Amino acid sequence: MPTTSVAALAGLPAGLWRAAATAPHRLLLLDYDGTLAPFHVRRAEARPSRRTMDLLERIASSGTTTTAVVSGRSLAELIGLIGRLPVTLIGEHGWEVRRPDGHVEQYPLPPECAALLERAVALADVAGWGGRVERKRTALVLHTRDLAGAPADALLRAGQEAWSPLTAPGDLGVERIDGGIELRARHRDKGMAVRDLIAAAPTGSFAVYLGDDVTDEDAFRALRSTGAAIRVGPDDRDSQANGRLPSVDAVELFLARWLELVADHKGP
Ligand SMILES: [Mg+2]
Repeated sequence: MPTTSVAALAGLPAGLWRAAATAPHRLLLLDYDGTLAPFHVRRAEARPSRRTMDLLERIASSGTTTTAVVSGRSLAELIGLIGRLPVTLIGEHGWEVRRPDGHVEQYPLPPECAALLERAVALADVAGWGGRVERKRTALVLHTRDLAGAPADALLRAGQEAWSPLTAPGDLGVERIDGGIELRARHRDKGMAVRDLIAAAPTGSFAVYLGDDVTDEDAFRALRSTGAAIRVGPDDRDSQANGRLPSVDAVELFLARWLELVADHKGP
């Protein structure tokens, strides 16, 4: 990382390292795309660096830190990308969980949500969006990451117009995400996933969440008063986060520092 120096860690909340060092246990919760893995036009090729994978494996294996990756991707995709890590994997914004021991849980999707998603698929077919639409169990994504400028804007607008009426009953929400828009079931989100992880952790655990996208704001809100909520990327929009890292490279630096810290503080 020749271009990333310790100055990249200057935007972290004051007292983070001390709180992490003195807590009886830690939770390290991380988004995937744009946080651990750099943006890639081909989604299957968006992968963390080898060093980031090594650091995560060592942190998760240290016994000092409950480590989880919390993503909007399907759990199957996450397992394909980073399933070898001994961490909790949370897919579809909290609807699916794989524990470090391999056990998988899926929250059941209410039938009314499934029916609305079916209608959204039909609308996408009529619009001819074809291969741009990713079907997940609890969401649909219209991907535009290979487009820019007016064509991207036009497609995003068309998606918003077609799918927004389906959100009226309140079961689904439609949201701009990095590289597209997503229509998803609202009964779970990253904030709920984070609260569940905190509730299951030892009392007094110090929790940190790192993420870059609008869907990470739910997680930031869930822990900003008790832990560190760290926005990754440029400071270009309002955020509930109470700290910032400028880039995916800075996240790698953060993980290296975290590993040094837990190596020095093996528990209380
Ligand atoms: Mg992201």
